Amino acid sequence: MRTLVIHNPKSGFGSDAIFQFVRALVSAGDECVMRMLEDDFAADRACSDAESFDMVVASGGDGTVASLLYALRGRDVPACVFPSGTANLLCANIGNAPEPSALARACRVGKTAPVDLCEISWEGEGGERHVRGFALMSGTGFDAQLMQAALPNKAVMGQAAYFAAALANPRPAVERFSITVDGRTLEREGIACLVANNAMMQGDIQIVPDCRMDDGLLDVIVVETSGAAQLLKPLAFGLVDRSGKAIGRPHLESFKGREVRVECSEPVPIEVDGEALPGTVRSYEARVLPAAVRIVVDAMSPYGTADDGSSRFGHSDVIAYPE
Ligand SMILES: [Mg+2]
Repeated sequence: MRTLVIHNPKSGFGSDAIFQFVRALVSAGDECVMRMLEDDFAADRACSDAESFDMVVASGGDGTVASLLYALRGRDVPACVFPSGTANLLCANIGNAPEPSALARACRVGKTAPVDLCEISWEGEGGERHVRGFALMSGTGFDAQLMQAALPNKAVMGQAAYFAAALANPRPAVERFSITVDGRTLEREGIACLVANNAMMQGDIQIVPDCRMDDGLLDVIVVETSGAAQLLKPLAFGLVDRSGKAIGRPHLESFKGREVRVECSEPVPIEVDGEALPGTVRSYEARVLPAAVRIVVDAMSPYGTADDGSSRFGHSDVIAYPE
């Protein structure tokens, strides 16, 4: 088995879990290339020879991993998402057992599932066109401000930084959004308009129900509230009602579609997969890239199929779930 591990050493707390993973993964006859990313890496270049391996392991935070998966879209090599970041939301959404030895075993078993990625594009303040791939959630408004506020504390506080930022944030501005989903236009007022490939946030909270990354659709989410405390209320509901089906989300409205265009009444900050970008935008477009990448899934993942016991690479003596 030939594996390419692409690791961002700047992600998260500088976790060394990826080395435990490699130790659990490799056995006699295997080859494993470790590629350490530099600051300002180009994901396309990091993945340029991906097809010459049996598998690519994307190791980093959500931003790093999403950019690597986007670079691998439409290419004939499976990818394993390895959680080396602060929140590791993509890994949580995939639902694999996150321990290094369990992920190593999943790679050897080699079960994969095709999943969607999304693409967001917008015009910069100087009129230049930006296009970025994403795997989780992107958009404008309060959410982007929250990410910006959390950034300085992320390395120290981890997930708590997001909640601290939400509580510390002053009342966010309410914007008017003109939202066109697959040709149908809706007008809404809210503090954020997001597009999501995955909707599970910090603390295992599904912010809208039935958001899947294998249905060929993206979810458009409008946050129709004007205070951080009110934003936290649906999140608190999420703690007792994780699916969102029983109580609902009074301050969140969502739509599904393949293509969306969002126009904002005022220039607002934009965020891509948790990364707040400099400057503001008046509008953005997003589209889904159905079944763009094949990811490794284990028996715990909601994206996996029933385990038939076969192993693609074999020779694994790793015990993922010791008794
Ligand atoms: Mg979807």
